[in-house]
Amino acid sequence: MLEIRNLHARIAETGTEIIRGLDLTVKNGEVAAIMGPNGSGKSTLSYILAGREDYEVTEGEILFDGQSILDMDPAERAASGIFLAFQYPLEIPGVATMEFLKVALNAQRRARGEPELKIPDLLKKVREAAGRLNMDMAMLKRPLNVGFSGGEKKRAEILQMSLLEPKLCVLDETDSGLDIDALKVVADGVNALRSPDRSMVVITHYQRLLDYIVPDTVHVLYQGRVIKSGDKSLALDLEQNGYADIIGEAA
Ligand code: ADP
Ligand code: MG
Repeated sequence: MLEIRNLHARIAETGTEIIRGLDLTVKNGEVAAIMGPNGSGKSTLSYILAGREDYEVTEGEILFDGQSILDMDPAERAASGIFLAFQYPLEIPGVATMEFLKVALNAQRRARGEPELKIPDLLKKVREAAGRLNMDMAMLKRPLNVGFSGGEKKRAEILQMSLLEPKLCVLDETDSGLDIDALKVVADGVNALRSPDRSMVVITHYQRLLDYIVPDTVHVLYQGRVIKSGDKSLALDLEQNGYADIIGEAA
């Protein structure tokens, strides 16, 4: 599903290299957790997958379904089935959440060659998905993310994800700003989307989230590289012992 080979990337404006020879393979249906201390490049990796223009890939390759995505713009990446839930979701004043969902969903359907949804069908779909996330329908009338609490923003992201039915979901620090009940709702939403032909990359520096979203593989990112990979026991190990030993081994 996703294969990243020897990726090097820098901040376009300053030339500072952040990703320094990163390798990562995520198979079909796999849930991969990316962990690592603050500043190790986790969010940068998600921005690069999204195709943000302020980062420059200088070396290496990112293959999605066997095809390079490096020449694709963010809209093309989304249309091909990549979805990113950001650590800090953007507030969009003036655009009601429902309107945003309609536009996003219909754009995705057009990209897949499917007809646009009729309004009643759209409402039904959104109502069902929002209900599963314990979201108040009144929220959907409010401008997207504006004044939403941390938990509400995360729910709105998971709602988008469940409606768009992406092939690859990248979730950056989905647990930040969530109380334990909201965390469970979000984790349930993510777990409901697990499927043999959908892969997920879950970025977090807390083991806590991984009690609810149990990953198939765990990768430790440090200074822009994956320095250790393992199964879910690696996350438990990190919770017990911290990153110091693994960083020491890799040095
Ligand atoms: P993480 O998500 O793992 O905490 P980030 O990807 O946010 O780490 O950041 C990795 C490193 O890159 C940090 O040292 C951060 O300060 C730096 N960095 C990221 N983006 C920028 C930017 N636009 N300008 C300057 N430094 C940046
Ligand atoms: Mg981050």
